[in-house]
Amino acid sequence: MIGVTVLGSTGSIGVSTLDVIARHSHTYKVVALTANRDVEKMVEQCQAFHPRYAVMADEQAAEQLEKSLRAAGNETQVLSGVDGLITVATLPEAECIMAAIVGAAGLLPTLAAASAGKRILLANKEALVMSGRLFMDEVHKNNALLLPVDSEHNAVFQSLPPNYEGNISQSGIRQILLTASGGPFRTRAIDELANVTPDEACAHPNWDMGRKISVDSATMMNKGLEVIEARWLFNAEPEQIQVVIHPQSVIHSMVEYVDGSVLAQLGSPDMRTPIANALAWPKRIEAGVQRLDLFKVARLDFEEPDFNRFPCLRLAYEALTLGGTATAILNAANEVAVEAFLNGKLGFTAIAGVVEQTLKSVKPEAAESLDRVLEADKEARLCAGRLIH
Ligand code: NDP
Repeated sequence: MIGVTVLGSTGSIGVSTLDVIARHSHTYKVVALTANRDVEKMVEQCQAFHPRYAVMADEQAAEQLEKSLRAAGNETQVLSGVDGLITVATLPEAECIMAAIVGAAGLLPTLAAASAGKRILLANKEALVMSGRLFMDEVHKNNALLLPVDSEHNAVFQSLPPNYEGNISQSGIRQILLTASGGPFRTRAIDELANVTPDEACAHPNWDMGRKISVDSATMMNKGLEVIEARWLFNAEPEQIQVVIHPQSVIHSMVEYVDGSVLAQLGSPDMRTPIANALAWPKRIEAGVQRLDLFKVARLDFEEPDFNRFPCLRLAYEALTLGGTATAILNAANEVAVEAFLNGKLGFTAIAGVVEQTLKSVKPEAAESLDRVLEADKEARLCAGRLIH
């Protein structure tokens, strides 16, 4: 049996991961589950999967979980806080770690999994955006295996030559083409965007996701974070990563080779495909995903991204070019701004403004240590918070 820890099990990716695991219970055993505050869903998951550990990042939620599990006669051990997350990300019996916590909160446990040489299924793109080079160094130093779960990066991974070792030009690759749906506001009049509501922003046309990534998709910051993620995962320069708007979300991304070949991965927009791919790689397992009906899809469209409509995408490229802690600053400012938008405290179009101002105010430095990255994250959060209030 392969032991799996699911970090962020109560979220959208976590739930899809458990769905795939449940289809293969003879191969995978859930060792640990983690969440922040959603005790009710965690109790349900502990009752269904009987993991050895359940972690709530929030201390009060951990106390509640302990009470509920004991009342139900469930023997899962409850841990709490960041220490608890790190403990279950590094357990000897967990060979495989699904990193699906949202935002910067995922960095420390995911990095701990890299240091412990785990097989990491990476959904938490923010970890790589914040600490790209440090994170990749830790992966290589400890022989960890990093498998992308983000559908675009998983598609690139599937379209790269087998045993790709991080050298774009020696592998005959011209560029990586990251597809993007363009989100719910691709065709909305630009002057209407200032007044869109959180629910409108979260109503993604093709994907059902958590609220933070849904807003990121609407601003296209998500694609910007993915460009940064691709830079580190595949050792590509920013100019070797092209974003292509493809509203149908059928092609999940492509790799263009120097001989003119373009290899793509297609499928129904369902995260269980990349999750199953990463979980079982190099094997293939059934994922419960609806088969792609090309006759129903009928057509595939492509557009160039418009930086006026999507300034967050431009800002992400700029932060990547600046380098060092600039991408951690971008990520932190974005998290603060998105939360303020979701809480009705900031307009949709002001998200980009907060990120841009924070990038101007907080000076990026060399990202030479984790402490430096965490300091930049903290400083950017304070700055973005001040800009909002
Ligand atoms: P959700 O918001 O649905 O779930 C987030 C998970 O993280 C929940 O389990 C949540 O617990 C937990 N969590 C939140 N805050 C903290 C914290 N401070 N400490 C510890 N745990 C915390 O997010 P998604 O599943 O949508 O996304 C997860 C990651 O995957 C993100 O990085 C996203 O960018 C990436 N991703 C998601 C895709 C999708 O389709 N959803 C696609 C590609 C990538 P609780 O429920 O208690 O709040």
